[in-house]
Amino acid sequence: MLGAAGAGAGLATCSLLGPVAWADPDGSGRQSPIDIRTDRAVRSPAAPPLVVDYPRSVALDLAYVNKDGEDGCGERTEDETVQAGGFSERAVVRRGGETWRLVQTHFHISSEHRVDGRAFPMEQHFVHERTTDGALLVIGVFLLPGGHGPQDRLLRRLPEECDEPLRLRGFDLSRMLPGSLASWTYRGSLTTPPHTQGVTWHVMREPRRVEQATIDRFRRLFVEGDSRAPQPRNGRSIRLVRGRRAARDDG
Ligand SMILES: [Zn+2]
Repeated sequence: MLGAAGAGAGLATCSLLGPVAWADPDGSGRQSPIDIRTDRAVRSPAAPPLVVDYPRSVALDLAYVNKDGEDGCGERTEDETVQAGGFSERAVVRRGGETWRLVQTHFHISSEHRVDGRAFPMEQHFVHERTTDGALLVIGVFLLPGGHGPQDRLLRRLPEECDEPLRLRGFDLSRMLPGSLASWTYRGSLTTPPHTQGVTWHVMREPRRVEQATIDRFRRLFVEGDSRAPQPRNGRSIRLVRGRRAARDDG
């Protein structure tokens, strides 16, 4: 994922050389992404559900993000992505009495997480900061071709590198998520430098379907991909927890 301040993502997954792993920065081995082994995920029906409270109509800014600022305009590298932020209305998730506010959402191609060794065409990350201390919670959603989603509209006009952000209105954040909000949760890290740990991940079990053309368009923008290779799980537990949408007056 990308840091809350708008960081870029990591490395080609589709080149002939294959994925290149970043070093574990501090050796403690709680890095992301990971390959989620579903047979080892612990079902936790009694755990507090992830409650998503996203508005159905927001304005947002869509921008091309260059993490390191060193490549100039026109040369796309793996530390870059397309990111939406500047949400006009409050979008939050809650769990166990705590609240995280959505800061930005961005995309990786191919997916960063795997499920039983399988990668998906794309993965969208929703980056949240806890209201009390800024701790990060990231929702990951796999994107598959074969349907329509708000992502198609969001990525219809991709901003060029160094362009001004595009302001989009009337955007349905809630529908970016799959119908079921059950998720695998574990403790990991940013997937881009500085790979900060202590990130709470919720990877949605159900993918979201989008148009094939959307995936193709994003691939043309990032020919070599912008995803980090899976990292060792190192004994971390993965729990499958429930999720639901909050009731909203606008929904
Ligand atoms: Zn990301």
